[in-house]
Formats: sequence, structure tokens, C-alpha cells
Amino acid sequence: MKQSQLFTKTRKEAPKDETAKNAQLLIRAGYIYKEMAGVYSYLPLGLRVMKNIEDIIREEMNIIGGIEMKTSILQNKEIWEKSDRWNDNVVNNWFKTKLKNGGEVGLSFTNEEAYSNILKRYINSYKDLPIYPYDFKEIFRNETRSKSGIMRGREFYWKALYSFSKDEAEHNIFYEKTKIAYQNIFEKVGIGDLTYLTFASGGTFSKFSHEFQTFTEAGEDTIYVDEKNKIAINKEIYNDEVVKSLGLKKDELIEKKAVEVGNIFTLGTKFSEPFDLKYKNNKGEENYVFMGSYGIGLGRLMGTIVEVFADSKGIIWPETVAPFKIHLLEIGNDEKVRKEAEIIYKKLLDSKIEVLYDDRENIRAGEKFADADLLGMPYQIIVSEKNITTGKLELKNRKTGEVKMIDENETDNLFI
Ligand code: ATP
Ligand code: MG
Repeated sequence: MKQSQLFTKTRKEAPKDETAKNAQLLIRAGYIYKEMAGVYSYLPLGLRVMKNIEDIIREEMNIIGGIEMKTSILQNKEIWEKSDRWNDNVVNNWFKTKLKNGGEVGLSFTNEEAYSNILKRYINSYKDLPIYPYDFKEIFRNETRSKSGIMRGREFYWKALYSFSKDEAEHNIFYEKTKIAYQNIFEKVGIGDLTYLTFASGGTFSKFSHEFQTFTEAGEDTIYVDEKNKIAINKEIYNDEVVKSLGLKKDELIEKKAVEVGNIFTLGTKFSEPFDLKYKNNKGEENYVFMGSYGIGLGRLMGTIVEVFADSKGIIWPETVAPFKIHLLEIGNDEKVRKEAEIIYKKLLDSKIEVLYDDRENIRAGEKFADADLLGMPYQIIVSEKNITTGKLELKNRKTGEVKMIDENETDNLFI
């Protein structure tokens, strides 16, 4: 894409009321637009990052048997009354509204009821199970805390998968598979080393749930970490008995600030009971379906990536999620330089390498460099008069700052 066609512009300052580093940088670089606290629009560059994250998650969900669908955002009061989660004393963060012709609806704050209600229509026999439907969806929560930028939105985009199994044993097999899928996802988006499987509060059907917590000072959670075994315990459940019941020692454990980028939860029959979601086993006996839920917040993940990798100059994207792999910078208002930059741009496009080409005229070199560092593409290729007279191009690694001189024809196989 040519940068002259990108309507977003960088800005020196973020809005005064924005205190989170992730949102400050993303706003300054033109990835997102702040509508109000906890509500952001995704601009072209921001959407490209979200879509890359979405593709990585989708691939891993499909590998473990996930089937993608989409539940509606407007939710029917009667359905949520079945599980008592319409009640404001039980759930205090609904956005609710009245229909003009009577009746009340709410904007999805989660999906369990929607899925249980739909699946009841299709699950009858043991032959129909197990199944693993999921969706990517906008979720709405009237959060009181919304000071963490896109890491805690009032409106946010997530992936939620629900597992419907015959029994606990079948559920447990899938639950373990999702742990691996989640690890793969966090590995692929670049935060694998910083992300710990964390024991958190369970429910009626399991002692613990599991969160995936990424180390960052911007996180709202406190966890106790065993770095050797790569597991952690959320402060919410941390006590001597829990530490002991996991084969851990208290004086091994280090306290860290972290953010929950995903979680997996054994629901058991908590939702299948109120929805009378049953199947007939091979003897014709009726049993409740055994459920689990598995969430990841995409905006939160994107914000976390910004938080953990950014430096004083701006954002640094891992290659897998970057909106463009290369930022091609044309430096100086020179016809020869322009021609050369155009040739390289075309070559990169022909090799299917995603490139943002800074073809803007009359912008000082220093400004282009500063913008490129702020935007954070993993590599910058600099075409300047000085470089082309030597027949070389400058290739800069945004993360390490390392600069290499390369031949023009080397661009073809640089990034394969
Ligand atoms: P938290 O404990 O941070 O409030 P949660 O336990 O309520 O989150 P879930 O309802 O299980 O989260 O949602 C699944 C995932 O969605 C979370 O792991 C997180 O990645 C993401 N998420 C939850 N709330 C938000 C939010 N307000 N903004 C962005 N992402 C969110
Ligand atoms: Mg939580």
C-alpha cells in the first residue's frame, strides 16, 4: 500500500485523557481512533493487525476441531432468564435496551446461553457429540474500569469457543488440546516466552480454571510464577493449600504483574441444566451435555503486544501480526530515487511481500524515519540518493536497530 493513500496521519501527542501506553501509541500511529473511554474504532492499519491475529487464532481453533459460526449480538431476555443471568444483581455489566414494540434485549456480554439455546435444537444423541463451535464477535460490557486502552474495552472483539462433550472424560481430552492450541497462538503472535499458564478460580465442576497471563506492568492481575515449570497461580486463589496442591514451593514463586490474554474454563452442566440440553447415550438414557468455554480477547492481545515490545520510539510488531512486513521509505525528492523505490515496491508486491511504501512528497527524511519507527513495521528498506549511487539499499531491523546494506536483487528472497 502507498502511504500517500493512507488517510491516517501520525500525531505527536495522544489525547490527554488516554493514560494507557498501548492506546497512546496506537492512536498516535493512526491504528485506532478513540471514540470514548473503552470504545475504539479500528483504522486501516489497526484492522490489518486484528485480522492477522484473527487468522492465527482461527487456524489453531480449526486444527483442534473448532467449527466457526456467528451468534447474534442482540440477545433475547427470556433466554438469559433461564440461567438467571439477565438479573442485574447477578450480572451488572449488561448494555440493555427496550424494543419499540415491547420486550427487552441486551447486547452480548458473553455467549454461553446463546450457544446452549441454539445447540439444544441440534443435539439429540451421543452421535451428535462432541462438537466445538466458536465465533469471533463484538462483545459489550459496561465496565467501570476502562483505563487500560484496548486491553479493557466496553466494546471489544473476542474469540469464544464452546465445547459440548458427552462426559467429563471426553471434555478433559479436549481441554488439554486447547491448552496446546493456546500456547501455539501466543507463541505465534510473539509473546510465548512471556505468557504463563495460570491456575485461577474454578467452579462447581473443577477446582481450577486456567488463564493465559502475559507479564506486563500494564496488566491488572497479580500472579505468582514458577519460572522453571512455566506455570503460575492467580493472586485471587493464592494460598498455602493451593500452592501445596499443585507440587510447588512458595519460596520458588515470584510475584509479577500480568494481563489475562485468554482463559479456558470447565463449565460442566452449569448451562446445559437450565437449557435442558441433553443427549441420549447408546443405551437410550438421557444425560446432560458437559460443557467448557475458551476465550481470547483480540484487542487485549493486540494491546498486550504493543505494551511488551514498544520502545521509546514507538511500536514494534512481531512479523506475524505486523500490518506490513516492510516499510519502504523513499528519502529525498529525487526522480531517480522515486524510480528506484517504485521498482522495489513492485518487486516486493510481485513476491507477495506486504509492504507499506512511504511515497509521500515533501516530507523531511527525519519525519519519515520517526514515523516509520512509530508505526513499527519489523523491517524498513531505505531508498535514498546516497544508497542508489552505490547500488545498495539499507535494510533496518526495527527491533534491534541493526542496519544492513543489501543489493537490490536481494529483496526477492530476504523474507522467505
Ligand atoms: P477479566 O478477568 O480481565 O475481567 P474475564 O475473566 O471477565 O476478563 P472472560 O469473560 O472470560 O474474561 O473473557 C474471555 C477473554 O476476553 C479474556 O481472557 C480477555 O482476553 C478478553 N476480555 C475480557 N474482558 C475484556 C475487555 N473488557 N476488553 C478486552 N478484552 C477482554
Ligand atoms: Mg478473568
